[in-house]
Amino acid sequence: MDPHVVILGCGFGGLFAARALAGAPLRVTVVDRTNHHLFQPLLYQVATAGLSAPAVAAPIRHILADQANVTVIYGEAMRVDAARRAVVLDGGDEIAYDRLIVATGATNSYFGNDAWAAHAPSLKTLEDAYEIRRRVLLAYEHAEREPDAARRAAWLTFVVIGGGATGVELAGAFAELARHTLRGEFRRFDPRNARVVLVEGSERVLPGYPPRLSERARRQLERLGVTVWLGRLVTGIDGEGVQLGADRVAARTVVWAAGVAASPIGASFGAPLDRAGRVVVGEDLAIPGHPEVMVIGDLAALPWHSPAVPGTAPAAKQMGRLAALNVLNSLRNKQSRPFRYKDVGMLATIGRNSAVAVFGRLQLSGYPAWLLWLLAHIYFLIGFRNRIVVLIEWAWAYWTFERNARIVFQASERPQEKGAKGSE
Ligand SMILES: Cc1cc2nc3c(=O)[nH]c(=O)nc-3n(C[C@H](O)[C@H](O)[C@H](O)COP(=O)(O)OP(=O)(O)OC[C@H]3O[C@@H](n4cnc5c(N)ncnc54)[C@H](O)[C@@H]3O)c2cc1C
Repeated sequence: MDPHVVILGCGFGGLFAARALAGAPLRVTVVDRTNHHLFQPLLYQVATAGLSAPAVAAPIRHILADQANVTVIYGEAMRVDAARRAVVLDGGDEIAYDRLIVATGATNSYFGNDAWAAHAPSLKTLEDAYEIRRRVLLAYEHAEREPDAARRAAWLTFVVIGGGATGVELAGAFAELARHTLRGEFRRFDPRNARVVLVEGSERVLPGYPPRLSERARRQLERLGVTVWLGRLVTGIDGEGVQLGADRVAARTVVWAAGVAASPIGASFGAPLDRAGRVVVGEDLAIPGHPEVMVIGDLAALPWHSPAVPGTAPAAKQMGRLAALNVLNSLRNKQSRPFRYKDVGMLATIGRNSAVAVFGRLQLSGYPAWLLWLLAHIYFLIGFRNRIVVLIEWAWAYWTFERNARIVFQASERPQEKGAKGSE
């Protein structure tokens, strides 16, 4: 029987590993706890009503349908028993492997303050995006019904915590929603007066970018109407607002974009972990003592690699391809290849016509960076249909300022009622 390769997770790393094994004399099993591959770079657009879910996600089964050697299993991997070469799934059933590629990514971290999660959702999955969108859109509905000015102001205050790419993108989109999309739709208040506050603990937004671009991004955010607070640490979050030391911001909508932690399954194989819980791998991406187990993408720590490998989609894809190649090499008794990250640059959008981009020594901001961002995201989206849908949605939004995914339809959802979920 052909050797069995199991891939856990079908995000960027897992998908590119599976594709690189197409046509090989192997049985490949891809396990994911969702039925879709998610294009996370555009998830903030779902959270801000710019795109609907099917535009940024595609069924895993469909993407891999033509790859005859792949079986897709919908399920959650609970742990890896490296000694017995078996993955334990939810429900207790097991899958035995000859080679294992673990690509289950990262989750959000509230730095030990897990109680904040109820008041400040973060953005990682489609469910998160729906929840943020529900809270944001319904905050305006609550504000229209609220006779008290102070309480209305709290409904119209949106705080984003964390000034990395996701926080910057969300804050910019919240400001555009208020200034353009919702303009003229309410009678008790002018949505253009809504307050969007971006809080960042370090001294600049986009800390991973060159300082000059961080400064440009801050200015572009402020031009959009975002209040940017740098060097401020959040000390508390509750249902009524955010505490920053002695200061308090009354805000009914708070989003957490400040921290990531490794997927918990990484702790189950007994391999060394770094401080963020990521699995430390060797140059061939395998864990110590188990050359048949490779860990890739956001879950992998590569402390020996200089410069540091970023937690991005291109890095995960490159690791996915190399892990697949090393699987093939090991089965052919060939030497495994070391991982070397090929820097493809960084892009972050801030809003309409404004973004920042860095490619080696080239640094761009404003319209050229935004155009590049737009083209790159269309190009890299998975699925031809998604590319067409996103192009049409963006063209429409560009000319009209409209955001088309604004329907929140849970029947029980009315002002005063909390906790019900909405979807589209
Ligand atoms: C909001 C947001 C915006 C981002 N924007 C950008 C950007 O603009 N550019 C960029 O390059 N990068 C961006 N990133 C980072 C990029 O998405 C990640 O670096 C990349 O997705 C990592 O790939 P991965 O394969 O390691 O994990 P993921 O792509 O996260 O995939 C992990 C997969 O594993 C599955 N899974 C998790 N646990 C289990 C389990 N126990 N059992 C089974 N399946 C499991 C998940 O369902 C998922 O499908 C962004 C991330 C986020 C959250």
